[in-house]
Amino acid sequence: MDGPLAADYAVVGGGLSGLWTAYFLKTMHPDADVVVLEAERVSAGASGRACGWLSGKPIGVRDQLAKTHGRAAVIRTEEIVRDSLDTITGIFAAAGKDIGAHKGGTLLVARSASETARVRDAVAAAHRWGVPEDRMRMLGAAETRARVAVSRAESGAFSPDMVRVDPARMTVALAEIVRDLGVPIYERSRVAFPRGSAPTANGHPVVAERFAIATEGYTSTLPGRGRLMLPMNSSLIATRPLTDAEWDAVGWSEAEGVSGAAHTYFYSARTPDGRIALGGRGKPYRYGSGFDRDGVVDRATVSSLTRMLRDLFPQIAAEVDYAWCGVIGVSRDWSPFVHRFGPSGSVIMGGYAGQGLTAAHLAGRIAASLLTETDDEYVQLPWVRALPRNWEPEPLRWIGANGLYRVYSVADVLEHRGTSGRTALIAKAADRIAGRSTRPARS
Ligand SMILES: Cc1cc2nc3c(=O)[nH]c(=O)nc-3n(C[C@H](O)[C@H](O)[C@H](O)COP(=O)(O)OP(=O)(O)OC[C@H]3O[C@@H](n4cnc5c(N)ncnc54)[C@H](O)[C@@H]3O)c2cc1C
Repeated sequence: MDGPLAADYAVVGGGLSGLWTAYFLKTMHPDADVVVLEAERVSAGASGRACGWLSGKPIGVRDQLAKTHGRAAVIRTEEIVRDSLDTITGIFAAAGKDIGAHKGGTLLVARSASETARVRDAVAAAHRWGVPEDRMRMLGAAETRARVAVSRAESGAFSPDMVRVDPARMTVALAEIVRDLGVPIYERSRVAFPRGSAPTANGHPVVAERFAIATEGYTSTLPGRGRLMLPMNSSLIATRPLTDAEWDAVGWSEAEGVSGAAHTYFYSARTPDGRIALGGRGKPYRYGSGFDRDGVVDRATVSSLTRMLRDLFPQIAAEVDYAWCGVIGVSRDWSPFVHRFGPSGSVIMGGYAGQGLTAAHLAGRIAASLLTETDDEYVQLPWVRALPRNWEPEPLRWIGANGLYRVYSVADVLEHRGTSGRTALIAKAADRIAGRSTRPARS
């Protein structure tokens, strides 16, 4: 952007949230004047760095969201999210875009008695919240390993609701679709919101009736939003492409999203180009809500993820070709929000806590309704709410985020040593302090 800009709607952030918001604004109101402003380039943020789970799992903490909107609204949101998988892949297919989609579901793997108990609890909770048995069910050890030969797998849970995608390809494809709808996308155009004066990008004024702030894990850089979302680091490694013989030894023929039920969990995918991508937390949080600019991962994290890969799949000796990291936005109550603010009715969204590939679609749809004051089902959903309370100031934030992660590592060791099948008490205490329920998260 190299001059002043005026539009009806200015979307800040060229990740999936911003792009879906622009998509819905323009498809719902073809005459609307919409622009997208991206600080770096489209897909430079988490959307282009993700593992590739377009997942229909619940997003946020159910009890938390039910407090304000009730149980039926939470169940309805989950149905919308599950249904959105086919809608999303349909949009790309109709536009002739190959995003590496394969609908193979998810496999949550337990490798100890306490992990099995947690997986069983998660399945029971899903059923209590209206998820039908055929969309989430327990598997025994043999059935789990027949899908993906994870070492020491004792049980698992399978859900058919996940499409593996190439996230960077998907984000760039969406940008192309949005551009073809007539939305200009300005890259290398960082928006600043100086206190007391109009927003600017690259020093030029940006005049818009309404803004949509879609900067998720990067929101801590915006004035007044420093503690709204914790920029939680997530790191990934990708092996070289495996040979056919190696895939035979591993299985994984449906490209399921595979994750673990340990407190220091992993998440993984069989990529469209035949690699294993495996992710985990690494160094979870940088002091002062800092984050990387370039995705470079520290050596210790790469070593620990490589050790985990070899432990999960000792039958192959896959070398690691790539490693990278990114930030996800975590709100204080671990639940997403789309919030209307300011006299004109701008919108800010985020807090997907690692599930934004799917969440961004719904958040964008909700944002478009809020921005255009359309009174439909979407603005009644529980994600439309007051901003969650802020995270604690430093150094409490740093001590809390990193300290709790250490506690989770110790809890995993204790649980793997024991056979009681109970979740370690220190992990339960950590969950309570963190403000989330005991449940295996994903990325
Ligand atoms: C390693 C990793 C693995 C993940 N795996 C998965 C997965 O498998 N499945 C899943 O569902 N989710 C996954 N996630 C989470 C998911 O990627 C995010 O939730 C989602 O991409 C968020 O999309 P977004 O558009 O809101 O944010 P982002 O994609 O982060 O986009 C925000 C954009 O805003 C831009 N920006 C920031 N400040 C400004 C400014 N001032 N002006 C203009 N632009 C600005 C940034 O450059 C960035 O491009 C993963 C995340 C990471 C990091």
